[in-house]
Amino acid sequence: MPKVDETRLEIDLKALTHNYQLLAQKLPEQTQIMGVVKAFAYGTDSITIGKKLVDLGATHLAVAYIEEGMRFRRRGIEVPILVFYPQLEDLPKLLEYNLIPSVYNFHFLRKLKTALVEEDINNFPIHIKINTGMNRLGFDLKDVDELQNELTSGNYFKLEGVFSHLSSAGMPSEDDFTQAQINKFTGVVEAFRKNVNPNFIAHLCNSSGILSHPEAAFDMVRAGIALYGYGNNPEEQKELQIVASLKTRIAQLREIPKGASVGYDRKFKAEKTSKIATLPLGYADGISRTYGNQKAEVLIRGKKAPIVGNVCMDTMMVDVTEIECQEGDEVLVFGKAHTALDFDKEKQSIPYELITRISQRVTRVVL
Ligand code: PLP
Repeated sequence: MPKVDETRLEIDLKALTHNYQLLAQKLPEQTQIMGVVKAFAYGTDSITIGKKLVDLGATHLAVAYIEEGMRFRRRGIEVPILVFYPQLEDLPKLLEYNLIPSVYNFHFLRKLKTALVEEDINNFPIHIKINTGMNRLGFDLKDVDELQNELTSGNYFKLEGVFSHLSSAGMPSEDDFTQAQINKFTGVVEAFRKNVNPNFIAHLCNSSGILSHPEAAFDMVRAGIALYGYGNNPEEQKELQIVASLKTRIAQLREIPKGASVGYDRKFKAEKTSKIATLPLGYADGISRTYGNQKAEVLIRGKKAPIVGNVCMDTMMVDVTEIECQEGDEVLVFGKAHTALDFDKEKQSIPYELITRISQRVTRVVL
């Protein structure tokens, strides 16, 4: 087998800087930016990206789970970190690592309160999540009065943030829905400012919110995918720069005659004499088996080569009949010159899924 690091994920911090600055320019000067670095910073490299975002001016980071936040703290990152999906048993670690939970239902809020009473802790910082239409996580609008009562009875909690999540901000056809979400959120923010705490941070926009509805920036935005270089449409894509490029090299080249098959279950059968390149990269590296059988293309010497046959655990084969190439040649699976959208020929998925799936055994190389 070729060396593992023939397959690598190159991470371009200049591209990250470009994207950060591009988003910042679209926002009012006072708007803070929370860098969303969950899932290994969208499959890239958590610590490298987290540190760079803080250097660039991100005032906050966001992660999904507490362990992700703990990793940043252990590596010396000190900005406030919001945990989107804290677990009840996490309280000691939230305290120890100074992480802020998102609180999205009464069950969690009350359990948290009980734990705070037992531990004799006051002013515990939280961000409250409101459901304005995504119907995933968050207090519904009908719960807001009761929620305000909970938050103001005793001083167990310090309301540091109130947020919601837009479900389709990048879709012009859903602009009315997005506007309704913005309106609902505005109402809730006003109520909390009046009744609970005038000074919390209100945040609503994800990347597509920032790019399509910067007027709804409130005090802070939560930027994810756009920082990594993916937009919602070709115009946005032109402005952004891809941060992560998944590369490998041709491990073996062979010519096969008409009728010969390739790979497990003989899923590809050559219709003519064909040249097949084997790449040291498979589903264990994050390339789903669903991309086999011509569903995706990689780039070799500037030309597209379709995956043929089933993707294997550590390898996949591509058809390079029309490409002048040699063993050892570089292959761009997806990245700058050939994005995750280009790779995913039939748009089976979205760049979010493709990049977050790149497995941890792929060497990360920071440029
Ligand atoms: N905010 C929340 C609550 C999220 O779950 C996510 C990502 O899934 C983001 C912000 C960032 O979204 P995006 O990557 O679209 O910018």
